[in-house]
Amino acid sequence: SVLLLSCKTDTAVAQQTTLIEPEIEQKVEDLLSRMTLEEKVGQMNQYNGTWDVTGPPPTTGDNANKYEALASGKVGSMLNVLGAEATREAQEIAVEETRLGIPLIFGYDVIHGYKTIFPIPLGEAASWDLEAIKKNNTIAAKEAASAGIHWAFSPMMDVSRDARWGRVMEGAGEDPYLASKVAVARVQGLQGEDLSDLNTVAATAKHFAGYGFVVAGLDYNTTEINRNTLLNMVLPPFKAAVDAGVATVMNSFNDVNGIPVTGNAFLQRDILKGDWGFKGPILSDWNTIGEMTINGYAADLKDAAYKAATGGTDMDMETRGYEQHLVELVEEGKVDEALIDDAVRRILRVKFQLGLFEDPYRYSDSLRENQNTYTEENRAVAREAARKSIVLLKNKNDVLPLSKDLGSIAVIGDLADDKDTPIGSWRAQATANSAVSLLEGVKAAVNDGTEVHFAQGYTLAIGDRAFVNELTFADDDGSDIPEAVRLAQNSDAVIVAVGEEAFQSGEGRSQTDISLKGKQLELLQELKKVNDNVVVVLMNGRPIAEPWMYENMPSILETWHLGTEAGNGIADVIFGDYNPAGKLPVSIPRSVGQVPIYYNHVSTGRPNATPGQPEMVFWSHYTDEEKTPQYYFGHGLSYTTFEYDNLKLSKDSMKMGEAATVSVEVTNTGDRAGEEVVQLYIQDVAASTIRPVRELKGFEKLMFEAGETKTITFELNEEVLGFYGADETFKAEPGEFKIMVGGNATDVLTESFSLNEK
Ligand code: BGC
Repeated sequence: SVLLLSCKTDTAVAQQTTLIEPEIEQKVEDLLSRMTLEEKVGQMNQYNGTWDVTGPPPTTGDNANKYEALASGKVGSMLNVLGAEATREAQEIAVEETRLGIPLIFGYDVIHGYKTIFPIPLGEAASWDLEAIKKNNTIAAKEAASAGIHWAFSPMMDVSRDARWGRVMEGAGEDPYLASKVAVARVQGLQGEDLSDLNTVAATAKHFAGYGFVVAGLDYNTTEINRNTLLNMVLPPFKAAVDAGVATVMNSFNDVNGIPVTGNAFLQRDILKGDWGFKGPILSDWNTIGEMTINGYAADLKDAAYKAATGGTDMDMETRGYEQHLVELVEEGKVDEALIDDAVRRILRVKFQLGLFEDPYRYSDSLRENQNTYTEENRAVAREAARKSIVLLKNKNDVLPLSKDLGSIAVIGDLADDKDTPIGSWRAQATANSAVSLLEGVKAAVNDGTEVHFAQGYTLAIGDRAFVNELTFADDDGSDIPEAVRLAQNSDAVIVAVGEEAFQSGEGRSQTDISLKGKQLELLQELKKVNDNVVVVLMNGRPIAEPWMYENMPSILETWHLGTEAGNGIADVIFGDYNPAGKLPVSIPRSVGQVPIYYNHVSTGRPNATPGQPEMVFWSHYTDEEKTPQYYFGHGLSYTTFEYDNLKLSKDSMKMGEAATVSVEVTNTGDRAGEEVVQLYIQDVAASTIRPVRELKGFEKLMFEAGETKTITFELNEEVLGFYGADETFKAEPGEFKIMVGGNATDVLTESFSLNEK
């Protein structure tokens, strides 16, 4: 009983089809049995982009070849075909002109919104608010799905410890537990309950795996990942996403242990499809099949296609390696047709799940596209998301929140007046310059009598923002600084925005210097001389190392690139309409030389200096830099204060198979309501492998009224205490544990706990 969705523009049509799993499997088998080898390989091929669909089919050039390939069933999917109309036109070719009329699946990078843009993923993760993250992705999915997109190449769940790598902005930071929770929330938001719902899209767990560990933070570089790190740090978010039902996986550019992931049967076949039972397709990343001919893993494209297919890659993004060689490889007996069948099953399965066989045009609906994108309602959620993502790093002298009744406010900095940068990298279909700037947000927030004046202060980025070109930085001679200083001197409060331009982080944007570029630091130093209470608003994709700023500026808000409603969200925090509650999902280094630096490190045998022995230098430290980061993972302040007390275990030991609880009392000791993220960390004191000094194992974000005390309880069980040890299986090992609870990774209450054999 399949619902037939025939009406193209009627939004009242049923939103879901009613296919259930066994029916889908049966339909997949039936269709597969009717396909030729060529048609099967066609499904495994993904093309980029399309032509102007309003004109006649192209007859010359690359587009003519694409048209021809589409019309002859050589293409199963396209990426970057955008909008209801374009997707409908391309779909028509596949459905009307090919023998079997198998619909295309359209994919696109819907990373932090489609037209309404939410905070960059790293910022969104700083909210530690899983419901909010889910909601943002629900909206992103609805906007994209209404514009004909079936498949979001998101979420990226690569754990990364390296701020030099521009793609830290796309992930959830340095911790595999937080990254797993955030990944699941994103998958649930994008996919909803049922993939055939017209407001949802198939999600992609990417980049499987190890891409966040590129050596020296250099994008596309090789990795050095040992088995311990692979199992305990890199893979957990992917496993969590698979367990949560993520429809597809995208692999990655890098190798792991010398084998490019695209050809890596251990990762793709043994672990992902084998151990984890993943049933969806693995999509290559862009040209990763072709890149194996360059990085020395394949002699030529045919060899690469062979290695990718046998290595478990089901769909080829843009290489044409499968298109050109896979049929031949099967006919020569080199690739077993059973492998092709397995790949095609996975691809068809998603197409059936999306309801594309019931009506291949059901997502391509111009009316829905207009009605559902960039709505007031969506923007309200984006504003909510923006303020939830802000981390109050520092608030000396309680400079913040500012009053809305001040006589005058100086808003300073190129970034403060920038309506584009807050949209960030990977901005999908956002209109350029469509964000609410900080200046606009401040002006909208203050009361009538308050004058708001702007001075640029510095000039940041200019040059070609095009993806392939290097960003150049402004040749800033500092001449804007005096004007900004004068303004600061004559204003009752000063807000200065510094940080990174939108495309300074993102793919291909690795940097060796992660400090503030140009004259930004000098501006801060000059402002500080005339005003002790300057509010710094950081806008950035990666952690910024700038010790002078963190140590000398009294109040600092980490605002990332917050999306469409950035300026309003920041103003909500600056003027106290919202009490900030974000916590860092990454540690902020003091200098690039400390990188990689992260909270869940292991201890050396020489962690500390010997007290009273200043001559003793043989302990683990830098002779020219502090050992700790500027701010650790988990840090974030509020306009109120919280006190942790009474950490209690339900019992101080348990046997394997049992469970215990740990509880803590948290009190809002200030005079205003606020949210706190209560964090549980553990340390396995001695184990079959060295374990991190602390690892996040639970958290809860709760609202506290002024003066309110709440008791928060976490369960301790083998799942919480377990890890992949020396034998590479997941289990809890008997012995001592430290159980730690606090509002960040360092200020914790600690209890000892032991796990005993049965
Ligand atoms: C990126 C992927 C992205 C793909 C398609 C690649 O360069 O690594 O994350 O999904 O392009 O745009």
